[in-house]
Amino acid sequence: MALDLNSSLEEIPGIGKTIANKLQRLGIKTISDLLFYFPIKYEDFSKIVSIAEIKVGQDCTIKGEILDIKQAKTWQKRMNLTQALVKDNTGTIEIIWFGKNYITNILKKGDLAFFSGKAGITKNKIYFQNPIFEKISKENPPLHTGKIISIYSQTKGLTSRFFRVLIKKTLNLLGNNIKEILPAEILEKYQLPKRKEAFYQIHFPNNLEEAKKARKKFALEELLILELAVLSERIRVQKELAPILPMKTEVIKDFVDSLPFKLTNAQRKTAFQILKDLEKGRPMSRLLQGDVGSGKTVVAAIAILNTVKNGWQVALMAPTEILAKQHFKEISKLLLKYKIRIALLTGKEDKIIAQKLKGEVIEISRKRLLEKTLKGEIDLLIGTQTLIQDKVKFQKLGLVIIDEQHRFGVNQRSKLCKENVAKERLLPHFLSLTATPIPRTLALTLYGDLDISVLDEMPLGRKKIITKVIKPDEKEKLYDFIREEVKQGHQVFVICPRIEKKETEDKESLAEIKAVDEEYEKLSKEIFPDLRVAKLHGRMKPKEKDKIMQDFKKGKIDILVSTSVIEVGIDVPNATVMVIEGAERFGLAQIHQMRGRVGRSNFQSYCFLVSNTKSKKAIARLKAIIEAKDGFELSKKDLIIRGPGSLKGEKQWGIPDITMKSLQDIKLVETAREIAKEILLENPTLSKYPYLKERVLNFKKKIHLE
Ligand code: ADP
Ligand code: MG
Repeated sequence: MALDLNSSLEEIPGIGKTIANKLQRLGIKTISDLLFYFPIKYEDFSKIVSIAEIKVGQDCTIKGEILDIKQAKTWQKRMNLTQALVKDNTGTIEIIWFGKNYITNILKKGDLAFFSGKAGITKNKIYFQNPIFEKISKENPPLHTGKIISIYSQTKGLTSRFFRVLIKKTLNLLGNNIKEILPAEILEKYQLPKRKEAFYQIHFPNNLEEAKKARKKFALEELLILELAVLSERIRVQKELAPILPMKTEVIKDFVDSLPFKLTNAQRKTAFQILKDLEKGRPMSRLLQGDVGSGKTVVAAIAILNTVKNGWQVALMAPTEILAKQHFKEISKLLLKYKIRIALLTGKEDKIIAQKLKGEVIEISRKRLLEKTLKGEIDLLIGTQTLIQDKVKFQKLGLVIIDEQHRFGVNQRSKLCKENVAKERLLPHFLSLTATPIPRTLALTLYGDLDISVLDEMPLGRKKIITKVIKPDEKEKLYDFIREEVKQGHQVFVICPRIEKKETEDKESLAEIKAVDEEYEKLSKEIFPDLRVAKLHGRMKPKEKDKIMQDFKKGKIDILVSTSVIEVGIDVPNATVMVIEGAERFGLAQIHQMRGRVGRSNFQSYCFLVSNTKSKKAIARLKAIIEAKDGFELSKKDLIIRGPGSLKGEKQWGIPDITMKSLQDIKLVETAREIAKEILLENPTLSKYPYLKERVLNFKKKIHLE
């Protein structure tokens, strides 16, 4: 059977279970995985010098004949040595390897070989220590010496030498069985090598330029697949029909006039974009991106009002119970006048609250609520993920809004929408709200299937939050300050440090809850026995949490101690102080989000980052928070300081890390986007490019675009 990229490693002759297992630990299972195990760097041994020309301390390669080779011991007789004497027509040089007895089995007296490494000097004699070597023969051109060689990230037992041999062998076995996936015109236009050549060039480059081009080719492949996936999804959705929801100008004007504040221009503009979309009869796919506190909720409320007044239902999904409840309260209040039936569906609670037409809030059972939703007797259903998990059915779902979600939001869209395609195959409109600040080009790609509206303006009168990094021993002063703020009638958040470093950042650990308990004890008993201190964490019962949140909102609590669950969306305009303990343990974006819990009114607000870190990197990051103008600038800085690792592809976005890395080459991203557009314009089904199509379909499945 002929090998191809999907073959398993064990189909390569000579690869047994042991080696296959070792490779598997590096995530290498198939031939494709192996070939995509790219070198982490190259060493240039292409400079072949004569022995007389060797310069101490410089990488070089010599070619010589072995005059003598033997095993020896160090003078302490402790360690095995291999010693050789090598000559060319300009002189001789001594070579030693520590250990490596096996070398005498490979290199024999009289052999001609390359030796690559750095020369050293002792007692005025130049020698080679532990050089890479390679016997020269007519059949085998050099692989490890005398040229640019690739260095792989190594794990025990698998050396770069091993990878070079295995990859070379595999490539030779594959022969022409490596199918090109990029269209020939594209390769030509961008002067890129074909896949087969590119694999050779990235692993065995003749020069570094060649390696770079090959890498670019593969990066472009990944990006193109990503772009094709999101753009074709966009085209697909655009072909669907959606309810036509004409702009109810009068009601909306009335609503805007009734607000206690003036909308910002950005709010006006984005609301208008959304209302325009809703009129079109094609499903809206829009992302509303706005920094914390920029006022996304009001914009969403306008979209809700317009949809309901057109006789259609709305589903609003929030990431946490607390947020869902907050939205319920907030939006109920905002829309009270407009006689909208709003209900809240969360977790496992049996009693559901709903607001009836006249604004009175009642409790009904879950079952009853689901029935009412199906009958169209609920206009706006607000909830958590239960909305999807319970497969809630609507009678006429016209708009789906998802708050504060990453990529995930978009994946969920299709689920909620698919369950709820109304008569005449009308797909609901979709609006995603996010405060995640990512640079625009990245957003264009990651959310390439969405139109983007940006709230790039803060409500008038907001003061910049004064942010300070303080050391734990300055806390006395901080406590005095807090006391003073509370005296002025303001409120305070204290966030306890994240305890363990975890991959899944949104769930709190028991240790964190313990930290909250301890901090709460300390603050309520020792420091502020006279103030009203409360605590909040994820293990508390929903009812308890709700009560605490409501009390805090109503000003019945002065200081709220909590884990970082508080980070998203909570709106308490009267809170003016945010204290973040162990600040260095949080990501920049996360601190920014948490800080956004204060500064939501015209009062001057403060954020104190408590940290005694000595790490230069950590200090630089905390400094960035103080300096950055907004979340966008911050995310760029975070990228620079933490490097590509700060964008966790697989975890956060469902996008392979290799693609994530390529995403940072903004120019290449744009190129990929252009190419994707060209291809889709000419061949929307990708039928002409079967290999590309297959990859795109797999990718879509992976990030659940379908
Ligand atoms: P986010 O974008 O973070 O979700 P919210 O929608 O929660 O922000 O709004 C933050 C706060 O700002 C709320 O208290 C809201 O009432 C208020 N707000 C919204 N728009 C304006 C505005 N144009 N002027 C003044 N305050 C506003
Ligand atoms: Mg919000």
